[in-house]
Amino acid sequence: GKRIAVLTSGGDSAGMSGAVRAVVRQTLASGGVAYAVYEGYQGLVDGGSMIKQMRWEDVRGWLSEGGTLIGTARCKAFMERAGRLTAANNMVEKGIDALIICGGDGSLTGADKFRSEWPGLMEELVSTGRRTENEVRHHKHLNIVGLVGSIDNDLSGTDATIGCYSSLERICQSIDYIDATAFSHQRAFVIEVMGRHCGWLALMAGVSCGADFVFCPENPPSENWEEEMCGIIKKHREMGKRKTIVVVAEGAHDRQLNHISPTMVKDLLSNKVGLDTRVTTLGHVQRGGPPCAYDRMLATLQGVEAVKAVLESRPETPSPVICIVENKIVRKPLVDAIAKTKEVAANIARKDFAAAMKGRDAE
Ligand code: ADP
Repeated sequence: GKRIAVLTSGGDSAGMSGAVRAVVRQTLASGGVAYAVYEGYQGLVDGGSMIKQMRWEDVRGWLSEGGTLIGTARCKAFMERAGRLTAANNMVEKGIDALIICGGDGSLTGADKFRSEWPGLMEELVSTGRRTENEVRHHKHLNIVGLVGSIDNDLSGTDATIGCYSSLERICQSIDYIDATAFSHQRAFVIEVMGRHCGWLALMAGVSCGADFVFCPENPPSENWEEEMCGIIKKHREMGKRKTIVVVAEGAHDRQLNHISPTMVKDLLSNKVGLDTRVTTLGHVQRGGPPCAYDRMLATLQGVEAVKAVLESRPETPSPVICIVENKIVRKPLVDAIAKTKEVAANIARKDFAAAMKGRDAE
């Protein structure tokens, strides 16, 4: 049967373990041999016991676990061709030429690069005597399939990434806790949430919790945002509201790309509106804890689809990434999704916020 390896890479997200479980079990169910690569690309470069054969029971209970039970890492060696050559050697040693990667756009970019240089890597392994012609003969092509694991929901082309709804849920719970104390003392809270280039968590948390004001990188506030925000919050207070919640994405900035920090917002609310204001940075609680039902479902359906994509792939077709679009699990060309994602960041950098929003399908 086909030997299929799965790894998780980049920032962890809830549901990654469920995706590994789905890939392992679907591989076994279709008569293949399943491998898990531990610690992201580092495990591929290190080889040996870091690439472990997985049995059905090895992933038992993984669906409800947060984070990733096979570990994740940022791997410098894999950024270099030499590291990828060693990784390729380790894969050939185990007879693996199909790799399913669950990670963010960085991890998926690395995966596609690996596939594109694979034939050259095979030639080099033979010419340098590390592998025989016979050993690489059955591994002429590398099969890559991407699964998007990210708390930020920052990949273009898919409606939801594995983990984003769990993080949103955690943020909403946290804001609910803060709400109670804010109400009691009539305080204002500035809440920083994750998202360096993507304001999805901030925006959705704002909508879900009835925040007074939200700062997102893709859609910065107007030039006179200080007065605008203070005016809106004063109005809400005059209407009888006892608490104020402002949500700030990590990567928030004004239209000139000057960072808008939670402290700046706090100072405005304290000095211009006269509110007793506190800052809460939610930090890594946003990543932790068990995945919500949606992420378990997404991880399972997409993991199964990824294995099907491996089994149906042809050398001439581009690497797919598994997406969800209007509630349907679909395959898209990996490179297109990454290119569109990078375009959003580029549009933000050149202050074309209308184009950035369009890239997020947020017209
Ligand atoms: P994410 O996948 O969450 O976006 P990173 O951008 O940190 O996270 O990428 C995770 C890992 O993927 C990196 O540490 C590196 O090993 C690999 N990687 C990222 N970009 C590339 C690239 N252009 N070429 C090769 N490997 C890459």
